[in-house]
Amino acid sequence: MDSILNFTNEELKIELIGKGYKKFRADQIYLEIYKRYVLSFEEMTEISKLDRKKLSDEFSFLLPNINEKLSEKETGTTKYSIKLLDDEVIETVLIFADKRRTQCLSSQVGCPLGCTFCATAGLDYKRSLSVSEYISQVLLICKDYGKRPTNLVFMGMGEPLLNLDNLIKAIQILIDPSGLDFGLRKITVSTCGLLPELENLLIAFPNIGIAVSLNSTFNDKRNHMMPINKKYSVEDIFNFLIGKKKLFKRRPTIEYVLIKDINDSTTEAGNLLRLTGKIRCKINLIPFNPFPGTKYKRATEKKISIFKNILMTGKNAVTFRESAGTDIFAACGQLARLKK
Ligand code: SF4
Repeated sequence: MDSILNFTNEELKIELIGKGYKKFRADQIYLEIYKRYVLSFEEMTEISKLDRKKLSDEFSFLLPNINEKLSEKETGTTKYSIKLLDDEVIETVLIFADKRRTQCLSSQVGCPLGCTFCATAGLDYKRSLSVSEYISQVLLICKDYGKRPTNLVFMGMGEPLLNLDNLIKAIQILIDPSGLDFGLRKITVSTCGLLPELENLLIAFPNIGIAVSLNSTFNDKRNHMMPINKKYSVEDIFNFLIGKKKLFKRRPTIEYVLIKDINDSTTEAGNLLRLTGKIRCKINLIPFNPFPGTKYKRATEKKISIFKNILMTGKNAVTFRESAGTDIFAACGQLARLKK
């Protein structure tokens, strides 16, 4: 049975009319789910009993459960552990900064790409998420918090572009004006650089935000830190960003996690300055967030400052982002069902 969360409003209209429902039912269901966060047919009391029963027989509306919720005192950042219907567990994080409430969404149970600085890579990879699992992550947080997030980032567990078809469908539903109505400018997808899939995503959504996780300008080092570099090297990434610049309606972000004595040298900073000097982009420096079992350490404040100052001599904006949620293992690279 198809999940009711797999449909855009237009698709649902066609589906429901085909099944003999009144034309306005799709709008009514969309309003209940995506504006009022009513998450079962039984609770949709404005719909006749007969139709509610018919809907339950014809569509699935099973949702994962919030297993656990942990909040960081200082920042309010909240990590939700979500148990999927097959008992696999993923995490999603709600981050508060300025007036934004940003939800970081997971794409896979575990991740097969094995980046050495990422806690998720240490989990057994199981599978990619379905469209309804993407949508459920957002709806569960809307219901729990009482308001929808203002921004969405696909930067949680897993590589979103390994799940491209479901990602594209989920974004179509998330931006549906009759539903959650996210603007594409409020959505960012982060990738370690799967270039053909990135091209397809940009063709589908030219205004979406893109973040490319780089982390070293040397192929031998990046091969080790991010094995996907053997397929898509540093040069491939920058050739893509230069050659396909017309596809980018917004400046992409280059993400760089600063790890002590690994990628925090002035040579790396100089290389990064030279490479990013060929494109219009934003450079986001992130301190490494340690997790149990890692051999890496966060770069020192002095090294971070020197690295940043070198990049600031270039034309592109540079930000240094202290990750929220380190107290509850909810920060960048820490999502692996860890507890303190
Ligand atoms: S950084 Fe991203 S792509 Fe790399 S292992 Fe972690 S989740 Fe996967």
